[in-house]
Amino acid sequence: MMQDTLQTDVLVIGSGLGGLAAAWQAAKRGCHVTLLTRAANAAESNTDRAQGGIIYRAPGETPEQLETDILTVGGGLSSPDAARLLSREGPRLVKEILIDELGVPFDPSAEDPALPDLTREAGHSLARIVHHKDQTGAAIERAFLDRVRAHPNVKTIANATAVDLLTVSHHSLEPTDVYRLLTCVGAYVLDRQTEKIFSLLAKETILATGGLGKLFLHTTNPPGARGDGIAMAYRAGARCMNMQYIQFHPTALLAPDGCFLISETVRGEGGRLVDRQGREFMQKFHPDGSLAPRDIAARAIYQTMLETGEPCMYLDITHKPAEHLRERFPGIYAVCMERGIDMTREPIPVVPAAHYSCGGIATDDRGRTTVERLRAAGEVACTGLQGANRLASTSLLECLVWGTRAGADAAEGILRGDDFYFPKVADWRYEREPADPALISQDWLTIQHTMWNYCGLIRSERRLNRAMRILRELDLEIARFYEKCEVSDSMIGLRNGILTAFLILEAAQQSRESRGCHYRIN
Ligand SMILES: Cc1cc2nc3c(=O)[nH]c(=O)nc-3n(C[C@H](O)[C@H](O)[C@H](O)COP(=O)(O)OP(=O)(O)OC[C@H]3O[C@@H](n4cnc5c(N)ncnc54)[C@H](O)[C@@H]3O)c2cc1C
Repeated sequence: MMQDTLQTDVLVIGSGLGGLAAAWQAAKRGCHVTLLTRAANAAESNTDRAQGGIIYRAPGETPEQLETDILTVGGGLSSPDAARLLSREGPRLVKEILIDELGVPFDPSAEDPALPDLTREAGHSLARIVHHKDQTGAAIERAFLDRVRAHPNVKTIANATAVDLLTVSHHSLEPTDVYRLLTCVGAYVLDRQTEKIFSLLAKETILATGGLGKLFLHTTNPPGARGDGIAMAYRAGARCMNMQYIQFHPTALLAPDGCFLISETVRGEGGRLVDRQGREFMQKFHPDGSLAPRDIAARAIYQTMLETGEPCMYLDITHKPAEHLRERFPGIYAVCMERGIDMTREPIPVVPAAHYSCGGIATDDRGRTTVERLRAAGEVACTGLQGANRLASTSLLECLVWGTRAGADAAEGILRGDDFYFPKVADWRYEREPADPALISQDWLTIQHTMWNYCGLIRSERRLNRAMRILRELDLEIARFYEKCEVSDSMIGLRNGILTAFLILEAAQQSRESRGCHYRIN
């Protein structure tokens, strides 16, 4: 049973790579860290799902080469400072933290087993990505989580959802100095087991709640990726930016229990995109046909689904020998088989899926937001690195670099004895009725279908306006619903989901030009 109020030096919300990197640095410097995560299984995260790898460095490579690749893919919107920082610090941190400190088992090179194998992905001018089979994220997550949890300065609270950030302006019960108003002092947290809400007061709070794929009908993200951190930060007064830039992956396996990412290497190895009748349709959209770039392939699949009324298209690689496919794609083969699809004999049903949010809470090079003592790291943040589009495999490295910097800088301020204080905050009030799950379920469907069709891969003024009308009405309903009902994890997610959807929608409306992964037909 949790107390009504807890105190900590550094509160880290989220246990993916961004949160773990921050918690690790703060704990190592001697701060007391509370690591909070909403899932009962602390490893459940986008990080755990990452397949391809994390950027390291090619032999003889200079930081400028990576910087150039990031800026090229970012569609002119990436911050040169952020790209420079990542290119200079990133490879060093991969070596020092992931390889030397944690011993993440990256696959060894065939030529020299003392070195990691390096692969190349789309948009990279060199082979500079290290990986662990096709399960790199899980290898990093498990190694890091074990070490962080075992650190004596870290208290991990799983199965607990942050409800709202505590700020002096909104929650302090004491008269306050006007300069402190926009200061974060922790969060209200729902203990999902007891269903009680407690206050967790912190000298520094670091949001690392990940992405927002759940807002769309199809996504590669886990169900907890619903924009919680962005919504909480926005309500607390933080600036969010570049919210319109949502990257869609062209091929995710369509299955009743959610989508699973089918790596682009399947197309690279000769997989053909076909319709239900087995006809190739990509030549109409790009001279490279099924090998068209990611964004074009994703839009072409979506457009063809709309025109034919089909729920998916298909990725056909049955012309390759079965033995080769089983060896080359063991993970994908196994997941397809679990869902009753034998990719060696039949085409894989695929849909494009929301994959990565390039925008988020605006942060500087130390993860600081526009709210005092509130930082953000990882996919929830917008460091400016990704600009209008993300270079493959930069996101894990961005988590590592900014998580490390945010945790270290927060700890240094605390250890310097900066002027911190814990105000008295109001306890949560509980006179509420149980929420009707049918309403929550239908409201989510409305958000997901609206965002998918009107604010998804192909946007237009009419679609965006229609989405705005639908979501405005729904927002009023959800606000009334939230006021009256018991706060549960799903209610928290719904409230955050609708707000984050609005932020994306507003940004998409205001941004009239197509750029990077924001594509408008008018
Ligand atoms: C299928 C897939 C493949 C990918 N492949 C790659 C790749 O090969 N290389 C690469 O660089 N990137 C890849 N990415 C992207 C990358 O994995 C993510 O951007 C990155 O892992 C995000 O890490 P994070 O720490 O910011 O968030 P996450 O890893 O998503 O962690 C978020 C954490 O916050 C917690 N949380 C959320 N809301 C709350 C709340 N209200 N209260 C408490 N806790 C909360 C969650 O439970 C979770 O612990 C891939 C993504 C996906 C989905």
